[in-house]
Amino acid sequence: MNRTVAFVGLGHMGGPMAANLVAAGHRVLGFDLVPELLSAAADAGVEPAGSAAAAVSASDTVITMLPTGRHVLALYEERGLLAAARPGSLFVDCSTIDVADARAAHAAVRAAGHRALDAPVSGGVTGARAATLTFMAGGGEEEFAAAGPLLAAMGKKAVHCGAAGAGQAAKICNNLILGISMIGVSEAFVLAESLGLDHQALYDVASTASGQCWALTVNCPVPGPVPASPANRDYLPGFAAPLMAKDLGLAANALRAGNVDAPLGLKAAEMYAAFAAGEGAGLDFSAIVHTLRPQNGSEA
Ligand code: NAD
Repeated sequence: MNRTVAFVGLGHMGGPMAANLVAAGHRVLGFDLVPELLSAAADAGVEPAGSAAAAVSASDTVITMLPTGRHVLALYEERGLLAAARPGSLFVDCSTIDVADARAAHAAVRAAGHRALDAPVSGGVTGARAATLTFMAGGGEEEFAAAGPLLAAMGKKAVHCGAAGAGQAAKICNNLILGISMIGVSEAFVLAESLGLDHQALYDVASTASGQCWALTVNCPVPGPVPASPANRDYLPGFAAPLMAKDLGLAANALRAGNVDAPLGLKAAEMYAAFAAGEGAGLDFSAIVHTLRPQNGSEA
């Protein structure tokens, strides 16, 4: 059954996601603070709304795709989305935000008499455009089922990870593995360089041995062994270093909040934050390999 959806946040991810909902036959009322993004969405069939609250008051489902938890909570409460929504509306937040903020958002939505699902994504802008995102969802069975047709219009897979905040938890745990493993793979290549071991030889062994992982066999941080990896196109993203820094920052918050002893995760968060604030600002996260060589940026 076709739905009327309010879509708030029509940026790199939200713009194409909203367009895919329209393409699947849903009515989408969109809002973004940036007028150019609103007109680009209108070109894809999204109906521009005068405010987020106006979009929400005329819809049964609210999807947000915003930078941080602060943005989500401010819109829900101070900017009045929860008050503007019809009773029992479904609020699906697809932004990547702190687990604690996601849980606070669920509580606020429920207290206002609505239903909530956290549903962050992986797959990046390419996946958003191609409707091949993976959604990691947290909330009740009923909320997950109700969001199902909408998630299916924007992605290829949706996993119900558990109760409130579980989608955000899955996202940061996965990216904790990825961030650390990319540094591990990069350190191995730098060690190989210092030992005179060829990149391809290390790849041929590790890719079929116990060192095998996504950071090695798909997003290999040195040029050559995996032709499609960003290292072969001057490290253009791919998965940009600032996004990895953001996600590991959220993981670090959760580690500290839970008193979890994860020295590698905390160190990786520090390393990506420093890299993203400097030379890595416009690069794929695999370019972190540059920071590991004795003379920053030089090949052995
Ligand atoms: P973006 O900055 O391009 O888009 C966010 C949009 O939210 C902006 O257009 C901004 O104007 C809008 N916005 C902010 N406050 C608003 C308000 N009060 N009302 C209406 N609109 C408002 O960011 P993005 O790359 O689309 O990412 C969105 C979310 O998705 C982030 O949480 C990010 O971490 C996550 N994410 C991004 C990627 C990626 O590859 N870009 C991948 C996975 C997850």
